[in-house]
Amino acid sequence: MGAQPQAQATKGDPEVWREILAQIGRVVSKPQFATWFPSVCARVVSRERLELEVPNVFIKSWLVQHYQKVIQEATSRVLNATPEIIFHVVLAAEPVAPEPAPTATTSFPASVSVGNDDASSFSLNEEYTFENFAVGQSNRLAYGAAQLVAEAPSHTYNPLFLYGDVGLGKTHLLQAICHEFKRKHPHLKLRYISCEAFTNDFIAALATKQAKMIDRFRERYRKVDVLLVDDIHFLAGKSSTQEEFYHTFNALFSDKKQIVLSSDGPPEAIPTIEERLRSRIKWGMVASIEKPDYETRVLILKKKSELRGTPFPNDIVTFLASHIDTNVRALEGAVVKLNGHALITHRPITVDLAREVFKEYLREAGSPVSLEEIQSVVTGHYQVRLAELQSKKRNKAVAFPRQICMYLARRLTANSLEEIGRYFGGRDHSTVIYACDQMARHIDEDPQLRWQIDAFTAKLKRKS
Ligand code: ADP
Ligand code: MG
Repeated sequence: MGAQPQAQATKGDPEVWREILAQIGRVVSKPQFATWFPSVCARVVSRERLELEVPNVFIKSWLVQHYQKVIQEATSRVLNATPEIIFHVVLAAEPVAPEPAPTATTSFPASVSVGNDDASSFSLNEEYTFENFAVGQSNRLAYGAAQLVAEAPSHTYNPLFLYGDVGLGKTHLLQAICHEFKRKHPHLKLRYISCEAFTNDFIAALATKQAKMIDRFRERYRKVDVLLVDDIHFLAGKSSTQEEFYHTFNALFSDKKQIVLSSDGPPEAIPTIEERLRSRIKWGMVASIEKPDYETRVLILKKKSELRGTPFPNDIVTFLASHIDTNVRALEGAVVKLNGHALITHRPITVDLAREVFKEYLREAGSPVSLEEIQSVVTGHYQVRLAELQSKKRNKAVAFPRQICMYLARRLTANSLEEIGRYFGGRDHSTVIYACDQMARHIDEDPQLRWQIDAFTAKLKRKS
């Protein structure tokens, strides 16, 4: 509890912390590491206490919930002791810009009028609000960061960079920021634009060969309080637009204006983007949006069906969530399709109707794999007994196949983390997350294991 004065703390010992980070990097996947750990600093590293500084409560609670154990284990490995881990929330300082910034502003600048030529770039979908966004493990960080930015632009994360595959909610979140921002800060100026529209606008301005038109273009994007550019990966390979965007970025950034970007991959993955732009992007907050897990799919289906006027009963929601796991757009499509069929055929929305409507889809996807099947394929291969697999034993001969089971269950079944944990030895959901992270990492590094996992997967899919 109380501070122990005798605890010899090596204040902020960066080397030890770096070593701990390296250990953590070995057990969590690369994207997870990149999402959660770069913003963590060590304040005190000692055998009694590991005090860490994080930029907000959100990251703190995520780390506590999901990575406490990982941090603990990495720390014990490095220090040969198990210090108490304490998190401090330290509001992020503005990243240091290499260029001298103009006089710092403590409040938001007044809005700047840029004429009214922005109608084309400004059609927001009314449904893309924070309230209509289902939050789960796959998108919690992105959601939280987006909310913070809408609340206090340029005071939390700048830039905010959201990335994820198509249909996972990037545009929704960017526009949710816009809606919220317009409500909270009506006097400030905001511009939301797709990267493609930005590019076209720039090319059109250039084509006029008139300095006046280029100036107008620049005003449009630089005299705003918040600029949101969607699908920034579109910049790849467009060097003059990139150059222009880079200057836009710097102008806004040094004026302490908020920038929000979205992309289909992490900053590292945008091909042919200039290094200087990439490193500027990384000054801020980079948050990924993953494919929704089962729990989130359930939430999304509930929200979407409510929004379409017919809240689906639970059995339909769980049926759809178990079978459709590609992306959110597909879930949304399913809601629309089922509603449509019910309307046309004058039938109530039931699981039977859903089976009929998604017959093709279900045949393609095959019926879901069960936990029992996974367990039997894996124990058969590794020669472990079911009782052992479901026991609390931690020796490698049992723990490894168990982790494989959890990993396969997460990928191939519709069971929730809790269900998977319960089935494989009465573990909690964080153990399953940990197992999946570890496996993902091993698979990344070990082609033999990857092959084995693919073989299990093929076998399980054939069975069903
Ligand atoms: P992206 O821009 O990443 O390709 P979108 O933002 O266009 O994806 O999302 C595709 C559809 O899925 C939209 O209709 C959006 O409302 C919906 N969607 C995505 N994620 C969620 C979520 N977490 N909750 C509710 N709807 C979502
Ligand atoms: Mg989009």
